[in-house]
Amino acid sequence: MRAAFHSFESLAARDGIGLRCVCFLAGCPLRCVFCHNPDTWVAGEKEVESVDLVRKICRYRPYFGQNGGVTFSGGEPLLQADFLKETALLLQKEGISYVIDTSGSVPLSDSVRFVLKNSRQVLLDLKFWDEASYRRYTGGSLKPVLETLSFLDSIGKDVVLRTVVIPSVNDREEVLKKYLDRIRSFSCISRYELLPFHTMGFFKYEKLGIQNPLASLPAMDESRCEALSKFVCENR
Ligand code: SF4
Repeated sequence: MRAAFHSFESLAARDGIGLRCVCFLAGCPLRCVFCHNPDTWVAGEKEVESVDLVRKICRYRPYFGQNGGVTFSGGEPLLQADFLKETALLLQKEGISYVIDTSGSVPLSDSVRFVLKNSRQVLLDLKFWDEASYRRYTGGSLKPVLETLSFLDSIGKDVVLRTVVIPSVNDREEVLKKYLDRIRSFSCISRYELLPFHTMGFFKYEKLGIQNPLASLPAMDESRCEALSKFVCENR
């Protein structure tokens, strides 16, 4: 089976448990205003075949150690859940684990459930805590995200939750407290990471001729983001 493909990163240390290569699939149903990968939004002509991809991943096996493997990111990888299901079965035969990096915006079909269930870990975005902000800043709905989180909780999956902190949007303790209230009942979340908004992807908007809604915003101050991370840790 083939999938719309964006790019491949040979080794990454911060995209899931252990040392992992990362496969970025193309296509995304959201349009987050802070997205630094607008070049992954639309599927282009590049495709990848599951057998070829697994063969490529196998080449990096010596680096994986006990916890490493591959991470599927995007765009939104679960848009191509049938492809991921087939790839997951091939990876299983090779004894290689995979992590899913998802916005949680794809409804829970059988294939999505299968892919999530068999993943080593799930990196899930909680972009905004309420429906109104979620719609305003991503164009999507929070509902499938919470349904995904509930499903992951019901199967006891290891979930790393992630939120991008954006200056003057959600960079205050009182706002982050609302995120914390939203997730308090979920025991599957092993870690909650705050990621500072950055401007490194701005050039892509210019290159693609896409309007950048946050073009005038500075990057999030990293030390302030660290202080907020501490707040989140202490108040979980
Ligand atoms: S879900 Fe990810 S790739 Fe899609 S628009 Fe949002 S930040 Fe960009």
